[in-house]
Amino acid sequence: MERWRIAIGGIVQGVGFRPFVYGLAVRLGLAGWVRNDRGGVTIEAQGQIATLERLCRDIENEHPPLASLSRFEVEKGRPLLSESGFAIVPSLDEARQPTAASIPPDASVCGDCLRELFDPADRRRRYPFINCTNCGPRYSISLSIPYDRAGTTMAGFALCPACRAEYEDPACRRFHAQPNACPECGPSLHYLDAEGRVEGNEAALQRALERLRQGGVVAVKGIGGYHLAADARCDAALKRLRLRKGRSDKAFALMVASRKVALGIAEISPAELRLLESAERPIVLLRQKANHGLSALVAPNNRWFGLMLPYSPLHHLLLERFEVLVMTSANPGDEPILYRDEEASALLGGLADGILGHDRPIHARVDDSILRLADGRPLVLRRGRGYAPRPLPLPFEGAEVLALGAELKNAVCLARGDRAYLGPHVGDLKAEGVSRSFRGMIEHLCGLFRLEPSAVACDLHPDYLSTRYAQDSGLPVIAVQHHHAHLAGCMAENGLTGECLGVIFDGTGLGEDGSLWGGEFLLGDYGGFRRLAHLKSLPLPGGDAAVREPFRMALSCLMDAFGEELPPCESLAQLPESELGLLVQMIRRRVNSPPASSMGRLFDSAASLIGLRHRVSYEGQAALELEMCIEPGAETSSWYDFALRQEADRLIIDAAPLIRALMADVLAGGAPCELSLKFHESVARMILSVCSRLREQSGRNRVLLSGGCFQNLRLLERSSRLLREAGFELFTHCLVPPNDGGLALGQAAVASWRLRPQP
Ligand code: ZN
Ligand code: ZN
Ligand code: FE
Repeated sequence: MERWRIAIGGIVQGVGFRPFVYGLAVRLGLAGWVRNDRGGVTIEAQGQIATLERLCRDIENEHPPLASLSRFEVEKGRPLLSESGFAIVPSLDEARQPTAASIPPDASVCGDCLRELFDPADRRRRYPFINCTNCGPRYSISLSIPYDRAGTTMAGFALCPACRAEYEDPACRRFHAQPNACPECGPSLHYLDAEGRVEGNEAALQRALERLRQGGVVAVKGIGGYHLAADARCDAALKRLRLRKGRSDKAFALMVASRKVALGIAEISPAELRLLESAERPIVLLRQKANHGLSALVAPNNRWFGLMLPYSPLHHLLLERFEVLVMTSANPGDEPILYRDEEASALLGGLADGILGHDRPIHARVDDSILRLADGRPLVLRRGRGYAPRPLPLPFEGAEVLALGAELKNAVCLARGDRAYLGPHVGDLKAEGVSRSFRGMIEHLCGLFRLEPSAVACDLHPDYLSTRYAQDSGLPVIAVQHHHAHLAGCMAENGLTGECLGVIFDGTGLGEDGSLWGGEFLLGDYGGFRRLAHLKSLPLPGGDAAVREPFRMALSCLMDAFGEELPPCESLAQLPESELGLLVQMIRRRVNSPPASSMGRLFDSAASLIGLRHRVSYEGQAALELEMCIEPGAETSSWYDFALRQEADRLIIDAAPLIRALMADVLAGGAPCELSLKFHESVARMILSVCSRLREQSGRNRVLLSGGCFQNLRLLERSSRLLREAGFELFTHCLVPPNDGGLALGQAAVASWRLRPQP
């Protein structure tokens, strides 16, 4: 007979962990107790040694689906107590202890709850807020840790006797399910439009459905914010939606009623299906089928659909009558997704024809996550609902720091000990509302995790709002070079220490020499880096304007490759003579044309030179359409060459020969899909040859691929394959976005490492 104390950390609160332990202990006939505390869950159990061992084994092997264990410590030989039976005891709020527990991400409604939702005999039939310990909102309704009802936005709803009985019954699926509710005691729906307000779950739902059927746009309150819903088969509805949102081309996400509907409109591999049906319920990018039957306005110039399955009970009720709905975040332009009910009424008249809302407040805004399957693994492109703020393990024990990310696709990250908490997608900080939500996010996460940072990490760029916030914080500031942060983020995600070779391709980031970087081969670790190779810097005419107008960079590339005698091409022909003349002068005299070694801009230039896109309506559009014009499965054995030149300690990668050869193909009338294919192959081959040279030079065999360009599936898969075949040990992103959405993790790793406690 012995008494053991078992301390478990990780995601163990709000996921039905205590009732699970309780059930096990009772079944095994052990005495003792289990409780939540700020470190996670603590168990004391007393019984035969073999039985205690069995308990530990079963906890590790059979824990609830939403739980994940990061720490499992057993202290044996505690003094025996004379207690009978096993109990769940109240949470201990050890406020002064740092917290190792974490708030779980929001989870989609589980199978058991779904069965009850559509069971005519169940007391929660068609109740849009059904949930249990295995499912439902978590992060989005949490105000504080530990995760208890009083610390969620459900605090205002008093449990009815039936719900309370479930909540207090350790044998029930709803034992301590904090958002537990029913039609008697819980939140309810309402619908609002120009004709007035309708209360009541069924009445509100029916009015919303009616509006959707008439081709209307209805704002629907979801888990982390409002969506704008519209019939995906109705051109008129989507035309209105695009006009109102000011979004001319960028694809809309779709919600489909079932796996069957999904399979009807997209090609879906078994691995993609698993991703689509996972409890995180992300938006998954999937190849469109030829006869999908949806409006062409869903995803113009795109071969993919962003598909998700219903994840809240309300979605299931909506999709019962609709096979496919467009579900795009409710926000004007680049503003953050709306989540407060006060703001929502402003949607009427502007964006939406009606609002389907409810009275369970959303405390923390969180966007849908976007993933795709790349190189056989999930790749997160936008990290939000279902993933944030799940902790990421760091390969070292570091200092407590806050990292603020960059400017585009901002997300912030906290690090403490050997854990990093990458917050959900915030957005592009240039938008007014986003900068407000950025400040809110920092306060929210620091409060939630009770972080007391010893330093703030930010980008090297002095003009980013995030950088200015860091400087005003009053804390020591650690500025991390943009591409170094990409490298460190990819290392951290893969649990690496020691020097690695990073291929970092993105739009632009400020370099240490004051020029713009973005086509970089860095050798480094958390402590520092050397820039071993990069694309040759070219003038970026008009700075930011060049991002919106790819023909600008195309001209810069042409002037570099051809000198005075520019070949005729569509990029230039679409410009009025006078404007072209001005632009040429601008580049020649380097007026408002900072030098940039950006790979993202090279992709833009190629898209323009091939004649695909000269002006963009959203970030990354030209590169995306360049990728999209390639036939799926197409391969090529021809490519263009870059020139490699050693200059002092650096290898310069010159795209001029590529541009000349590409233009020869364009003038010879080559098909855009062929030229794009060849261009992608060229970049992948260049990565291989540069990495091979740097391997010889440095003796390093570990290669990381990071930066926004590696969202491009063809580039990622092709270069991965070539590098692996050449014997490189390759590391890429998976649960952290390769774009700037993952940057804060790298900044946090660098700062946390620099300030780590010395042994
Ligand atoms: Zn459930
Ligand atoms: Zn109730
Ligand atoms: Fe970047």
